[in-house]
Amino acid sequence: MKHDQDFIKRQNRLTVFEMIKTQSPISRAMIAKKTGMSPTTVSRIVGELTEQGYVIESEQVSEGLGRKSTLLGLMDASVSSIGIELDRHVLNIGVVDLQGNLVHSESHERGIEEAPEVTVQRISDVLEHMLERGIAERKHIVGIGVGLPGIIDNGRGVVVFSVQLGWKNVALSALLEEATGLKVKVDNELKVKALAEHLKGSAIGSNRTALLGFGNGVGSALIFEGEIYRGEMNSAGEIGHTTVDPNGPLCQCGKAGCLQTYITIHSLLQEASQIRPIQSVEELFAARAAGERWAIHLIDRALTYMAITVNNVVCMYNPDTVIFSGELTDKFPEMYEEVKERCHSRFVWEPLRDSFRFVTSQLHEAGVMIGSGLQAQAQFFKLD
Ligand SMILES: [Zn+2]
Repeated sequence: MKHDQDFIKRQNRLTVFEMIKTQSPISRAMIAKKTGMSPTTVSRIVGELTEQGYVIESEQVSEGLGRKSTLLGLMDASVSSIGIELDRHVLNIGVVDLQGNLVHSESHERGIEEAPEVTVQRISDVLEHMLERGIAERKHIVGIGVGLPGIIDNGRGVVVFSVQLGWKNVALSALLEEATGLKVKVDNELKVKALAEHLKGSAIGSNRTALLGFGNGVGSALIFEGEIYRGEMNSAGEIGHTTVDPNGPLCQCGKAGCLQTYITIHSLLQEASQIRPIQSVEELFAARAAGERWAIHLIDRALTYMAITVNNVVCMYNPDTVIFSGELTDKFPEMYEEVKERCHSRFVWEPLRDSFRFVTSQLHEAGVMIGSGLQAQAQFFKLD
């Protein structure tokens, strides 16, 4: 009972905050009317938020029958959060404001074998350095959000398993909280990215968004009615390990013929190197452009599997929007048109072809920072 009441209180606080954020200037009476909360509850929450310096009262307006009411707005500069993207090679760290704008960001290299403690220390150092330079003020930072690839226990803030980082059962939230003294929220990168695209990018207004990510891994994330669909272990959307050929090549996960053995940058380079030494995807695409048949075949096959992935996701979830994203498409935007053409001409089941928008990511590499920064803010406003 007690737990339920606390939960409702926190939800109410977040609801009021979100309403002021998105619909200001707005009065207490209007908030009560729109949320169905009692005027007393709304006044109490607004009082708290004002006292803490997040909300300000602006002008007065008449609201019929000669009654005056005061409009509320947010103190924009009073809240920001830190959004972090961790991947095999990089540590991207940014400052996200209340409106979800990335007001500052920097990129640092990360060693492939870097241990969690080392990465955590580096994050803490980078953050200190940003504060010293006046890029953000500590008293305004309400928390840190981190997005990274793998299976993440978002409730406990534990990296259960991340092949890309080589981490297993790492209590990342606890480590980072200890190092920085700030509240930390950890989640899967594609889930926060999809959330960011839904709130600020190419899927605004969508009710059912499926985001596909093609890069060092292959994955997807789903946003249904504004909420991240997580599944039982927060691993919903891990399409990289769906089996496409039981007799196919061995995957990093130990199974044969996973989807990602045909599409990830790593597997493309590995297969290309059996023909001749190829160091980067840029080289692979150059070989294709030069008309080398093996390169044409490899990329052609990858594009086909991408179109098949679109079809599978569309058949399974019937989304209104499918976002095509990731390092491969950020580097080679022409892939979007090529996959789109394949979807339309052949691979997406015909009755569903016109049922969804097929779009590219709008936030690109900023998406994970923005999404995780916004999650850190939401967590903060849920807390008492
Ligand atoms: Zn696999």
